[in-house]
Amino acid sequence: MQDNWSIVIHGGAGVLERDKISPEKDAEIRAALNFALKTGSDILRAGGTSMDAIAATIMTLENNENFNAGKGAVFTWDGKNEMDASIMDGETLAAGAVAGVTATKNPILLARKVMTDSSHVFLSGDGANKFSLEMGLEQAPPEYFATDFRRQQLEKMKSQKISSYDVDLKFGTVGAVAVDKNGNIAAGTSTGGMTGKKWGRIGDSPIIGAGTYARNDSCGISATGSGEYFIRLGVAHEICSRIRFAFSSTRDTAQANVPKDKHGMPQYYIHSNEWALDDDVVQAIADNVIAELGVLGGTGGIIYATPWGQIGYSFNTPGMYRGKASNNAPATVSIYGDEE
Ligand code: ASP
Repeated sequence: MQDNWSIVIHGGAGVLERDKISPEKDAEIRAALNFALKTGSDILRAGGTSMDAIAATIMTLENNENFNAGKGAVFTWDGKNEMDASIMDGETLAAGAVAGVTATKNPILLARKVMTDSSHVFLSGDGANKFSLEMGLEQAPPEYFATDFRRQQLEKMKSQKISSYDVDLKFGTVGAVAVDKNGNIAAGTSTGGMTGKKWGRIGDSPIIGAGTYARNDSCGISATGSGEYFIRLGVAHEICSRIRFAFSSTRDTAQANVPKDKHGMPQYYIHSNEWALDDDVVQAIADNVIAELGVLGGTGGIIYATPWGQIGYSFNTPGMYRGKASNNAPATVSIYGDEE
């Protein structure tokens, strides 16, 4: 076990600008993000798994009605809260996801149960609710999830005939990615989806490869934004794949440039565990995929963590609720685009 660990979180991206958020709300959000980061960091620092860390971190955000996940989830057109969540283990590529669940207090725990206690990856609707009961997960009545603020957003959307993008400043989905002291990466995402969603609409958040992905040799990703676009680009998987290919091609190039001995053989070999991608290469890959998302018409962002200790964000909205911490950097939380 090494000393290195890292965690990065988000609580949604959007038109988050200083003149649109009151100082009180700004402080409340930062406190919630700090609490979430501390929850995950304490687990990682003590040698806990990245899976335990992200599940506990995401639960704190699901329990906070400022975010569109668990309590405070947005309403469907029919006035219900239907939640989606997914989780992935980068060591084994095990994954679990749920869509349209209505009664599990913490949908991220249900996604985790699908991963660990079923032979499936993705359950939906009534079946997923039933599985939750069978697993003995804590249930909550509809009133627990419903908040006046979200109900007003639905009413405004209906009366003003505006889209779900226009009814709120932001996407309030939550997510976390962590790397533990064993180098295992885990990622998870939880959401209520989009205000006024109809017809059983499912976004990217519960889709492995779109809203969530983790793979120890490349990265962990959790996304937030206009889900339909993230699905079409397979954003989370796309970023991890590009990182994986960049890793092998830069390592191969470095190996090819190793000086040769008098027999023409390389003087030494670069092993994968001695090679790392540079920070700016990782950031550029994430930024490129988000730029492609923008060209398609999508908005939002992602958080990433890599096996080489990089943690960060990429988003094409004015801001994103976000935070990060690691064994060698204190926790920082940010909202606006011009912050760290
Ligand atoms: N990505 C989510 C969805 O499309 C929304 C969000 O990020 O808030 O369901």
